[in-house]
Amino acid sequence: MAKDSPKVLITGASRGIGRAIALRLKEKNHEVIGTATSKLGIESLAKEGVIGIELDLNNKKSIETFNKLLVNEHTDISVLINNAGITRDNIVLRMTDDEWMEVMNVHLNGTFKISKIVLKFMLKKRWGRIINITSVSASIGNKGQSNYSAAKSGVEAFSRSLAKEVGSRAITVNSVAPGYIETDMTEGITAEIKKEIINQIPLSRFGRAEEVAELVEFLISEEASYITGQTIHINGGLYM
Ligand code: NAP
Repeated sequence: MAKDSPKVLITGASRGIGRAIALRLKEKNHEVIGTATSKLGIESLAKEGVIGIELDLNNKKSIETFNKLLVNEHTDISVLINNAGITRDNIVLRMTDDEWMEVMNVHLNGTFKISKIVLKFMLKKRWGRIINITSVSASIGNKGQSNYSAAKSGVEAFSRSLAKEVGSRAITVNSVAPGYIETDMTEGITAEIKKEIINQIPLSRFGRAEEVAELVEFLISEEASYITGQTIHINGGLYM
């Protein structure tokens, strides 16, 4: 059984979905740590009462420094939201090794590394929640996103295996797979393409970051204790 409002770590909390989750959980009295890649991002989190820590998942040294800080100061974290994300879209024939690796580092390798750090704290407490933010792209594929959809699919498979490893300690591991959500990540989509996408979404709109945050809030609650190893889709019906 968790204490009320357990301490939460959210990667990529400076913008978009991660920020919406951070603000929502802060509002519900959780102590929240959020990461950003820049000082500016950290300052913007601090203004909201969120503890901001610098983390670049594409940088080995940054992860090592982050690890040390958590082990020294934040071993009471018992909820982890692996949310940080980037896209480096390109068709396979043109995709560079860097574009492939950056996406793998931030999503798949990052999820593994940060989960490994925080799991140790959860195992001691015999309670924990890990939510990995994946994507509809893992299930349906997307032209130009072979790196992204492969990484997200890998995260979903990782989540199922980890759920089996730690279930006996009351630690649940689930993926939340959003469809198109209004954030900086989708801002570059042209009006014409957006119209085409919306035509394929039964609910006829992009989702809001707050809607994803509400789902995450439920999945980390005591009420969701019997849900593990699942990928929960939130996409307006784009994929069902
Ligand atoms: P966003 O608005 O672009 O925000 C991305 C977040 O990730 C920022 O906080 C950013 O920090 C952080 N980040 C970027 N590069 C990083 C790195 N190298 N190391 C650590 N953190 C890094 O994106 P979003 O739309 O909220 O996406 C959040 C998650 O949802 C991602 O995993 C994404 O793949 C997934 N998702 C999004 C959508 C969508 O339609 N928006 C759909 C499906 C899945 P800085 O501010 O410091 O750059």
